[in-house]
Amino acid sequence: MDALNWLDDVLADLDRRLLRRHLAVREGAQRGDEIVLGGQRLVNFGSNDYLGLAACDELREAAVGAVTSRGWGSGASPLVSGRGELHAQLERELAQWENAEAALLFSSGYAANVGTIAALVAKDDAVFSDELNHASIIDGCRLSDAQVHVYRHRDTTHLKSLLGSTARVRRKLIVSDTLFSMGGDLAPLEALNALAREHEAMLMVDEAHATGVFGRQGRGVCEHLGAEDGVHVRVGTLSKALGASGGFVVGSQTLIDWLSNRARTYVYSTAMPEASAAAALAALAIVRTQPQRRREVLKLAADLREQLRASGLEVGPSDSQIVPVILGDPERTMRAAAELRRRGFLVPGIRPPSVPAGQALLRISVTWLHTSEQIDDLARALVETIRNLP
Ligand code: PMP
Repeated sequence: MDALNWLDDVLADLDRRLLRRHLAVREGAQRGDEIVLGGQRLVNFGSNDYLGLAACDELREAAVGAVTSRGWGSGASPLVSGRGELHAQLERELAQWENAEAALLFSSGYAANVGTIAALVAKDDAVFSDELNHASIIDGCRLSDAQVHVYRHRDTTHLKSLLGSTARVRRKLIVSDTLFSMGGDLAPLEALNALAREHEAMLMVDEAHATGVFGRQGRGVCEHLGAEDGVHVRVGTLSKALGASGGFVVGSQTLIDWLSNRARTYVYSTAMPEASAAAALAALAIVRTQPQRRREVLKLAADLREQLRASGLEVGPSDSQIVPVILGDPERTMRAAAELRRRGFLVPGIRPPSVPAGQALLRISVTWLHTSEQIDDLARALVETIRNLP
């Protein structure tokens, strides 16, 4: 008997419940509006390349230039010999753009969340986390060994009562996505700020889907809602709207000094390739100088939401470029995704555990590269597809 035989059973169980996922292979470049999968050209509504930067010439040329002058690999963790001039320049520019004292680059947004939370709280502490926070936040909470209190989604009354009833801990940390990755809704940041102040808690937010898209300067939802001041720790990613790869944290110099000493995903992991930092620098320049991209993508998404709501589809409280169509049942969701694909649209079906049971949904990501026509065509296709579901 093979010790791994149990895997056949659990995979068969996932198959039976329509929860098994299969790896896809994209052909050609990643573009936020178009994708070729299995030989089929599809309008791509499944990409986080919100500003259409991932395959643009500026990023390509920046990365090629850095590879030509510096090669590819970083060779070691940043504390040893892996941190190069382009990493340092990107950290300086991120800090300046984010209006923060300092920034620290991680190899991914996932690593940034996990390493940061586990460096800020430990056994004698408590962390308060929105129930729909991203998996990397959940994993950071678990790894930290702190007491974990999960509050109902965006429910600050629940959070307040949990904060009030948690006695005798050394430190408290409140942590939330600012733009929820599946529902496309925004966190109640002013209320989180006020609660953090009242309870002397640290406040950490994850702007992964909002960086580059929200706020006048593109810094995210904190900027958009005027809530930057009370936030102690801001996480972002370079891998979504910025079209590159890697994660970052911005905050005070002391915070960054501590994380660079104690965040294990930073200390014990090889620095991202410098070419990736070069691509992110090029992306940052575009985000700073082309604010119309974020205005236009949010306008396209608002048009889509309006059309879907007018047709009676359930898009929940989405207020961003992420527009879910909530169908509830995994089977109906995957059927709808397959039918949309047949009609030429990639719209991923999202099932548990990425969303809670009973909340399976189609997740539409609108990007700056989409045309109004593509948005209208998708709205029509969605309405017909869902109307015809058994
Ligand atoms: N936070 C959120 C809210 C995310 O959605 C993601 C990626 N799906 C991450 C963090 C992780 O970022 P990265 O992809 O750069 O690891």
